[in-house]
This record gives sequence, structure tokens and C-alpha cells, in this order.
Amino acid sequence: MPTFHISLNDIPPEGRTVVVDDPLVWEQPLTEFHMECRVVTPLRAEASLLPAGDGCLVRGALSGAVIVPCDRCAEDAHVLIDHHFETFETVPEQSKDGDGNEAVENDAAYITLEQGVPVLDLAGLCWEEFMLALPVKPLCQPNCKGLCASCGVNLNTGACTCPEAEGDPRLAALRAFKVKTPDH
Ligand SMILES: [Zn+2]
Ligand SMILES: [Zn+2]
Repeated sequence: MPTFHISLNDIPPEGRTVVVDDPLVWEQPLTEFHMECRVVTPLRAEASLLPAGDGCLVRGALSGAVIVPCDRCAEDAHVLIDHHFETFETVPEQSKDGDGNEAVENDAAYITLEQGVPVLDLAGLCWEEFMLALPVKPLCQPNCKGLCASCGVNLNTGACTCPEAEGDPRLAALRAFKVKTPDH
């Protein structure tokens, strides 16, 4: 597993650009978290790292393409990733009462102290940015009809025979007499 652990001491004051294009950066957590997501165009991040104040400014772009299940019908939804990000990572404070090597716990941070040296976990940061780039409700097509709530048929491939089905003229008369049911 590539780590992309970058010591802040190795970044010159004018900054440094790092390309993260090792597929394992994303494929390992995808497997680990059992996520239904296939990479179809390799993911690639380019991040510029600029030391500033008590941390590091990370600006970058993430691109690629993946296939995830459609939110409505569970068929393939193609998602183009074109995500720009900018985040400031802070160096954790050294604990006062410890032996000088322990850092204050901060799970959200991607900079940790390794033997007193601040180290940026760029792979972890790129994974988080990938998660942020994924749509909350991916769709196979903008007007996906989804699955019938009664029989589970994929309504994109044709109507089912359930009474509630739209577009069946034989049921139009029945629908007119339908008793209104309260919203759940
Ligand atoms: Zn769909
Ligand atoms: Zn149905």
C-alpha cells in the first residue's frame, strides 16, 4: 500500500506539487469498506502543498470515473469525478504532560506527529475528497423511474402489472374512485 506520508519538513517554503495516481489509494479502502464502486477511469489527484502558519494548505483536483449503484433502481450509474478541493491541515499540538512524542488526539486531522515531525497523510486526504466527490443520490439517468414499490420490477425497462402502475388506460376509471390514503 502506498502511503503518501509526506513530512512537512520536506516541503520547501514555496510549496510542492504531488501527484497521487496509485490505484490502491482508493481501491484498498473501497475493498475494505465493501463499497459497491468500480473505478472505470483511473482516479488521479494532483495536490499542491504549501506550508503556512501552523499547518499546511492543500489545494488540489481529483479526476476519474466510477460506476456505483443507482439510488433508485440499483443499476449501474456512471459518475464522472471532477472535484476541486482546498483544505487547511493543522499540525497537532504536542502534549504538555507526556514525554514529548504524544500528540493531542484529533481524528479528523491528516497531519500527525511521527517522532516530533509533522507528517501529512495525503492518501487519507485524497480518499476523503473522493468520498466528498461522490453524489449522495447517484442516478443511472436523470429521469430514472426506479423500481415498482410493489413488485420490484425495474420500471425503466417497462411497466409492471401492479394496480398502481401509471399509464394503463384500463385502470383510469378505477383510479377515479380511489380513496385518498393519508400520507405516511
Ligand atoms: Zn436508475
Ligand atoms: Zn409492480
